[in-house]
Amino acid sequence: MTAGIESATRWPIIHKDIAAFPVQPNLVDYDATCAAFTWDSARRGLSGLPGGRGLNIAYEAVDRHAAGPHAEREALRFVRADGTTRSLTYAGLFEETNRFASVLRALGVDRGDRVFSLTGRIPELYVAMLGTLKNASVFCPLFSAFGPEPVRQRLHLGSGRALITTRALYRKKVAPIRAELPDLLHVLLVDADGAPEPDTLDLAALMRSAPEFGGIATTHREDMALLHFTSGTTGTPKGAIHVHDAVTAHFATGRFALDLHPDDIYWCTADPGWVTGTSYGLIAPLVHGVTSIVDEEELEADRWYRILAEQRVTVWYTAPTALRMLMKAGADRARGHDLSALRFVASVGEPLNPEVVVWGQEAFGQPVHDNWWQTETGGIMISNYAATEIRPGSMGRPLPGVEAALVARDDEGKPVLHNITAVLVTDPDVVGELALRPGWPSMFRGYLNEEERYRRCFVGGWYLTGDLARRDADGYYWFVGRGDDVIKSSGHLIGPFEVESSLMEHEAVAEAGVIGVPDPVAGEIVKAFVELHPGFEPTEALRLEIIGFARKRLGPAVAPRLLDFTDSLPRTRSGKILRRLLKARELGLPEGDTSTVEAPR
Ligand code: AMP
Repeated sequence: MTAGIESATRWPIIHKDIAAFPVQPNLVDYDATCAAFTWDSARRGLSGLPGGRGLNIAYEAVDRHAAGPHAEREALRFVRADGTTRSLTYAGLFEETNRFASVLRALGVDRGDRVFSLTGRIPELYVAMLGTLKNASVFCPLFSAFGPEPVRQRLHLGSGRALITTRALYRKKVAPIRAELPDLLHVLLVDADGAPEPDTLDLAALMRSAPEFGGIATTHREDMALLHFTSGTTGTPKGAIHVHDAVTAHFATGRFALDLHPDDIYWCTADPGWVTGTSYGLIAPLVHGVTSIVDEEELEADRWYRILAEQRVTVWYTAPTALRMLMKAGADRARGHDLSALRFVASVGEPLNPEVVVWGQEAFGQPVHDNWWQTETGGIMISNYAATEIRPGSMGRPLPGVEAALVARDDEGKPVLHNITAVLVTDPDVVGELALRPGWPSMFRGYLNEEERYRRCFVGGWYLTGDLARRDADGYYWFVGRGDDVIKSSGHLIGPFEVESSLMEHEAVAEAGVIGVPDPVAGEIVKAFVELHPGFEPTEALRLEIIGFARKRLGPAVAPRLLDFTDSLPRTRSGKILRRLLKARELGLPEGDTSTVEAPR
């Protein structure tokens, strides 16, 4: 799946004919654009709060359009299960988000307080996100597919003060853990229908009776705006902090990497529970004043083709797993649909195999443009551009304003330093750790309450991404793999530690080791190896029971799909489970240096 050197030669370069494009791309000359670009010049495309009061994402996304000639343009168009749509114009979104901010204010939710969401992709989620920013509070969206344990942990770590959710999700995932969350003062149900659950509030009723809005709060570039949890190899999930200035990067990358133009109908398929669904499902398109499609349902090939065709989508941002599923369903499925409006397709989140890039030409009449970024970077950092050639399998080149490099690693995988400066890989096609020069506006400003963990990400003047990559002689970056044990399954980043901890809460489980194993569609799927306590037999019934137990606690997006029993997990002499070795054994790969492995018990 990973693009290798052979890919560069196997897959011919895809050239573009700009003259045939329906619109002139925003970035035509890559080198000249990079040379001329500064983040301050990007900021000039934003308005800033009136009276020079600072910067607020919601003002840039909504208010400035609501006050202008595009007030009645659709900002968000939601596609329901039956294919019908409901829309919010910029003017409508302005009113609704003001009202939501007013509701928060009336409840005493304050500047910097964390407001969480746990819903599907419904209008209330988007209104809540922007309204929260107008109140100078901090928004933290959660995946509705999370089980109660990930929900509890994130609400606890983020000291959630308010939560927007639905009745069904509240009953299933929040009510059982509510007593463990003393900071969570307000739970607002979007579908209370006049009869909220005990200890919850009826959001619609509060919206109707909201006091008149006193005006958008003053926020500054460096004020915290968004909190996105991401997973690491060890410990609890990390809350990556993003500030209002991130909107500068959303604006610039929407322009260059997604090639947004004012009349676009744009569809980002990501859920806002993942940073892509927030940065590019909401902020970037609205900052550009375009119409953004939100599908309230999940992936289904015919449904997706219908949406592309019926909604006349022009720019589409999706993910490799989704594209692989469509590819599996066959390009014929696309042929019955009129995709003539579609002019740009991009993908992010996992390695995009060159087959899919090329297949895009068959199915959508154009190649898929891969780009790379992560929760911590807050916005797209490396990309293929509408006007520039594509080397299938490559993530592309750094965005204007982004300085990328490869840091050399020693045999133990640690960055090589010379004095206090990182040693960079300069030769083409040599693997190093992908690094970025700090200073871009959407860079995370910390892991909530974990200063040391944040500090460790910066070495020798660079932010280390944890990904391994190589760069060819022309400056194109190629993903090689993760430098750590974190698993990427269907675009979700999964911390093995979180899964192992949950498994070990089952009475039969003594130890667990969790890895990702390759899967042709999901990229990787989660596999667990389990050591049982004495007295428990490794039966099929027990295997299914433990998988079911994990699914209930963690949710289907995170729980292991495969589980093997083992008599002894490989460990270091200090007792740490060696996931690297588990993986090598599972995949029949060389085991590498095993000198620190403890002899089997
Ligand atoms: P997340 O923070 O959940 O968005 O996950 C970020 C991680 O996803 C990156 O560090 C990469 O490991 C992986 N990733 C994102 N985009 C790409 C891409 N275009 N190619 C390969 N891996 C990617």
